Amino acid sequence: MEVFKIVNEHTRKPLGNPALEALHLKRTVILSGHTLLLTKDGREMPVDDSVAPIRDVSGRMAGTVIVFRDITEKRNAERTSARLASIVENSEDAIIAKDLHGIVTNWNKAAERIFGYTAEEITGKSVRVLIPEDRQAEEDQLLKALGRGERLEKLETVRRTKDGREIDVLSSSSPIKDAEGNVIGASTIAHDISREKTMEAELTMAHAELEEYARKLEETVAERTAHLQATIAELEGVSYSLSHDMRAPLRTVQSFSQIVLVEAGDKLGATEKNLLEKIISAAARLDRLIQDVLTYSRVSREKIELKTLDVEKLIKQIVDERPDLQMPKAEVDIQGPLPTVRGHEAYLSQCITNLLDNAVKFVPRDRHPEVCVRSEVHNGHVKLWFEDNGIGIPQESQQRIFGLFERLHAQTDYPGTGIGLTIVRKAVERMGGKIGVESEPDHGSRFWLQLKKGEKK
Ligand code: ADP
Repeated sequence: MEVFKIVNEHTRKPLGNPALEALHLKRTVILSGHTLLLTKDGREMPVDDSVAPIRDVSGRMAGTVIVFRDITEKRNAERTSARLASIVENSEDAIIAKDLHGIVTNWNKAAERIFGYTAEEITGKSVRVLIPEDRQAEEDQLLKALGRGERLEKLETVRRTKDGREIDVLSSSSPIKDAEGNVIGASTIAHDISREKTMEAELTMAHAELEEYARKLEETVAERTAHLQATIAELEGVSYSLSHDMRAPLRTVQSFSQIVLVEAGDKLGATEKNLLEKIISAAARLDRLIQDVLTYSRVSREKIELKTLDVEKLIKQIVDERPDLQMPKAEVDIQGPLPTVRGHEAYLSQCITNLLDNAVKFVPRDRHPEVCVRSEVHNGHVKLWFEDNGIGIPQESQQRIFGLFERLHAQTDYPGTGIGLTIVRKAVERMGGKIGVESEPDHGSRFWLQLKKGEKK
C-alpha cells in the first residue's frame, strides 16, 4: 500500500525509484535537495533524503534503506530570512548594521544611494565617517544607550555623505542581540529628510515674506484710507460751505425778481413777465437742490446717537404737518400699533417724509394717492413698509434710484432733485439699518426700511 509519493518540489514530477539508483551506484546518495513527500492525508513535507544499500553477510546487496529528514522548519526559516533580506535591500531608507564599536557590518542599497559609499567600501569601517565633527559625541551617547539595550527613536540630525555634503536625516537605532540576549551591535534606519527640510525652510521664508507683505499692505491701506478720509472730509466741508453760501445770492435773485414782478408788473409785457416767472421757479428749484445737498452732507457727516423712537407718533406728526399727505389730496393709512425702533429722530423723520412724499408724488394724475404704512417684526428688527398705489418702478431701475441724482422721469412729469432716496439710504445706514423696494410698473411700489427694534413704549 502506498503511504506517500516522492516528487520534485519544483516540477512536482514523481522522482525515480531511489532504491534502484542506490543499488546501481552501490553507495549512499543524496537524491535531491528539493524533495517533497506528499502524504496520503494531503500534507506536504520538504525532506532531505538519503539512501543506503543493505548487504548480506557475503557483501551482496540485499536491499536499500531510505532516510527522510523533515526540513519544514529549516525551509521556513530560510524563506523568512530571504524575505527580510529583500525588504532591507529594497527599503527607501538606509538600513545599517554595526557592531558595538560602531564598525559597519551591513549596508543596504538605500544607504549607498543616500551616503554615496558602496557596501564594499564601508563594510568594516567605522560609521563615524558619516558623522560631522561637531556631532561625533552623538555616536558615543548612542553606543552607550544601545549597550544598555535601549532603543533610540527619531533622532533628527545631520550626516555627511561621501562627497562631503551634509544632509538632514531622521534616524532610529535599536540594539541587535544574539541568541542569548546579549547586545552585539545595532541597526540604524536613516530617513533622508533634506528635501522636507529645504521645503520647510522655503515655506517658513515664504510665510515670513507673505506676512511682511500683508503688514506693508495694511500700512499702505491704512495710510491711503486716512488720506482719503481727510480728502473726503475736506471736500465735504468745501461743498457744504459752497452750497450754504450759494443760498444767499440765490435768495437775492429770487426776491429781487419777485419785487420786479410785483412792483413793475404793469409795465412789463407778457414775455418779460414769463421770463421773470421762469427765473423765480428756476431759483426755487435750485434752492431745493441746495437744501437737499446740504441735508445729504449733514446726514453723512454728523455724529449721531441712537435712541428708542415712537415711530407711529413720528409718522402721525409728519402727516399732520403736511397737507399734501392728507385728505382730500391723499390718504395715508397707518396700520398701528407700530413697534418702537432704535434710531435718530431727525434722520428717521427725514426718511419717513421723503418716502411719503414720493409715495403720493409718483402717482398717475387721474388716481387718488393712497399709502399704507405697516410693520413687521423679525429677529429683533422692525421692517417698516410704505406701500403706494403709484406708477411703480421697473425691476432694472430698483437699485439705481438710491444713487445720487438718479431719476426716472422728466421734471415736467414729476419734479424733484434725485437726492431724496440717497438721503434716506444714507440716513438708514447711519442708523445701522437697511432699505429696499419691491415694485412692478403701474402696480404701486412697496418701499421698506429696517431698523433695530426699540424698547417697549
Ligand atoms: P426725486 O423724488 O427728487 O426725484 P428720489 O431720490 O426721491 O428723487 O427718487 C429717485 C427716483 O426714484 C424718482 O425720480 C423716481 O423716478 C423713483 N421713485 C422714488 N419713489 C418712487 C415711488 N414711490 N414710486 C415710483 N417711483 C419712485
